[in-house]
Amino acid sequence: MADDATTPASAPFDDEAMAGLIEGFEAALRRERERDAGPSPQAHIRASGLDWCARAMFYDVARWQERPAFAPEVVARLQRGRDIERALTVRLLDAGLPIEESQRHVELRDEDGRVLLTGHIDGVIRWRGVKVIYEVKSVHPNLWGRLRTVDDLLHDAYCWRWVLQMLAYLHAYGRRAGLFILDDCLGHQRFLPLWRDRLEGVWRRLLEALRVAVRAIERGTPPPQHGDPAHCQRCRWREAAVCMPALAADAGETLRLLASEELERALLEREELEPQYRAYQAASRVIDAATKPLSPGRYLCGPFQIRLSEHERAGYWVRAAKIKRKTIERIVGAAAHEVRTGPWQATA
Ligand code: SF4
Repeated sequence: MADDATTPASAPFDDEAMAGLIEGFEAALRRERERDAGPSPQAHIRASGLDWCARAMFYDVARWQERPAFAPEVVARLQRGRDIERALTVRLLDAGLPIEESQRHVELRDEDGRVLLTGHIDGVIRWRGVKVIYEVKSVHPNLWGRLRTVDDLLHDAYCWRWVLQMLAYLHAYGRRAGLFILDDCLGHQRFLPLWRDRLEGVWRRLLEALRVAVRAIERGTPPPQHGDPAHCQRCRWREAAVCMPALAADAGETLRLLASEELERALLEREELEPQYRAYQAASRVIDAATKPLSPGRYLCGPFQIRLSEHERAGYWVRAAKIKRKTIERIVGAAAHEVRTGPWQATA
C-alpha cells in the first residue's frame, strides 16, 4: 500500500500539507523550548550558577522569579548539550567503562550545617579503586580549539563557571580529582583533568563569596555589589534590571556621547563578526604552529597547496610615543536604559 493511501482524495498530500507539517514540527519544538526557558524556583545556590559575585548568587535564590528567561537559541544550545552528555555516557557504558553513578545529587554544607550549594554530578567513574568525578561539556566547534587546559576554561568568558562547578563537586563529594570531557558537537572529545589542590586559591575566593551569599539569603538583604564593571557586564541580574551598578560609576570618569550613526553601525558589525574573527585567529595559530618548523617549498594538505618561502625583513626602530588603548563592551540591562536617558555630554 502506498504511504499516502490514507490521505482522502479531496486532500492530497501536497506542498501546502508539507508546509503545515513543518510548521507543526517547529511549533512543537518552540513550545518545548519555552517550557525549558525558565525561570524555575531555586531554594539553594546551584553549582551550575556559581559566581564570583555573592549578590548575583543571592538574587538567584531570593528573586528567582525575576530572572530573565533564556533566549530560544540558548535553550536550544543547552538542550543539545544535555543530548550530547547523555549520548556520551551511553557510549562510555557500552565501551565497558566502569561508570558507577550518573546524575548524582550533591550538597555542600558549612560547619554549622547550612546548605551552601546543591548540584548534580554528570558521572562518577571508578578507576584503579578511586572514584573520579567527570563532567561532560559541549562547546561550539570554534571555541573548542582554544580550550586546551583548565586554565583556558577559567579564563574564558563562557566556561569559567565550569571550573567553579567542578571544584564545588570535588569538595562536596570529598574527591581530589575531576575530569572534564569536552565535546565539540562534531564528535571529537578532549579530556581535561582538574586537581582540587592546584586551585586552592580559586576555591577560597569562591567559598568566601558563597558564605556571604548564604548569610544574605538568611537575612533577606542583598550583599554589596561586586565592584568589577567588567564582571557586571555579562550578569543576568543586570540584564533583568534588578541590580543596577551605575554606568557612570563603572567608568569612574565623565562619559561623553559619540553621536555617529556610522560609528554605531561599525560597532554593531564588529560585534557580529567577532566570533568569526576569533575562529579565524585560532585556526591561523594552528596553521602557523604546524608550518613554522617546515623548510621553504610547496606542500599539499587536503584540498590546499601551501607555499613557504623565506624573505629578508628590514630592521627598524620604533620611536617612543604615547599610544591609545580601547576596550569596547556592549551595555545591557539597566545600564542600557541609563544610556538612553542619561544626561550625557555630546562631543563636538
Ligand atoms: S550586576 Fe554586578 S554587582 Fe549586580 S549582581 Fe550582577 S555581578 Fe553582582
